[in-house]
Amino acid sequence: MRMRSWKFRLYPSRQQENILDSYLIAGKDLWNALLEYSKKYYEETGKFPGRNRLNAFTKGTPLFSQVAQNVSDRLAKSIRGMATRKRAGMKAGFPRFKPIERMKSFTYPQFGFVLNNKLELSGIGGICIKKHREIQGKIKTLTVKKSPSRKWFAVFTSEVEKDALGRKEGPAAGMDLGIEHFAYLSDGTVIENPKHLKYAEERLRESQRRLSAKKKGGKNRKKARLDVAIIYEKLSNKRRDFLHKISRRLVEKYSFIAMENLNIEGMARSFLAKSVLDCGWAEFSGMLAYKAEEAGCEVVLVEPALTTQTCSKCGSVRKKSLAERWHECACGASLHRDLNAAINIFRRATAGHAGSQASGEETSAHQKWASVFDERGSPAL
Ligand SMILES: [Zn+2]
Repeated sequence: MRMRSWKFRLYPSRQQENILDSYLIAGKDLWNALLEYSKKYYEETGKFPGRNRLNAFTKGTPLFSQVAQNVSDRLAKSIRGMATRKRAGMKAGFPRFKPIERMKSFTYPQFGFVLNNKLELSGIGGICIKKHREIQGKIKTLTVKKSPSRKWFAVFTSEVEKDALGRKEGPAAGMDLGIEHFAYLSDGTVIENPKHLKYAEERLRESQRRLSAKKKGGKNRKKARLDVAIIYEKLSNKRRDFLHKISRRLVEKYSFIAMENLNIEGMARSFLAKSVLDCGWAEFSGMLAYKAEEAGCEVVLVEPALTTQTCSKCGSVRKKSLAERWHECACGASLHRDLNAAINIFRRATAGHAGSQASGEETSAHQKWASVFDERGSPAL
């Protein structure tokens, strides 16, 4: 069994929208109250409050009981994550207080909703929903979301039977996700970040600059903030389209793809933060996984340590700065840094498997795959 998510647009009435908004506010207030309590508890006892202590706070909110509990479960989970990172000697702080702009969804983990022609929510009634496709499998959870441009969505997760399809025929490759290029494959294929996304990102930055120039609390600032939100939403939609397209092309062509098991959360804290999130790696990795399963392609995640620093020809390890874009080694290896990493990733995934080879020779396969991607590396559709 595996989980899949299904997103549909909701059309609440004005009155329903007011209730939905009040739920977002209640969720935010609950999160912040729980966080404040947890911090105080930690200061006084040196320990983190457990799930039961936190759950006691969820009674008496206007939220459906399970929705409220989901808020406290989420906070408990972040606190546990923080404690684990602390124990591992990493830098870790409490989760952050959420302003209302950051609380954009609430989740029904099991009950409290029924999907018919409308979406029946406990305490609200039937909300109009545009069901543009049938949900497969048994529905497990519902998350109600508000987009920055104030559209409402219902996201269901369902449990679907694992596809009975076996692994299909096709080439195998390792893939390195990068900043300079979107991805580099061990057969030499390069997937570039599309230009139109770069332009859209420039427009977003411009609108953000305009926003920060506006006076705080002013009417113009409010308008500028909505502008930013709308441009941001358009950009995310475009980026998601790109990720869907790339992941579909990849699973259609390859029967086996190895990639790094990226600790996106850990990376997002580092200096790479902006670029990592911009590239949508986490989202991409999820898309690739579920598309692969349907297409009969196998995706294998490998430990990311030292894939860049190790020489793919002789195995020696040498530190590289981020600026060093070319891999040169005393053994004579000379290739793009990300191609070197992609080959290492492939090797790591296939180590010990009979018949696996991922050598520099595979760069000649670039020609073969030129039909999949045009010369700039975007998918040829
Ligand atoms: Zn070497």
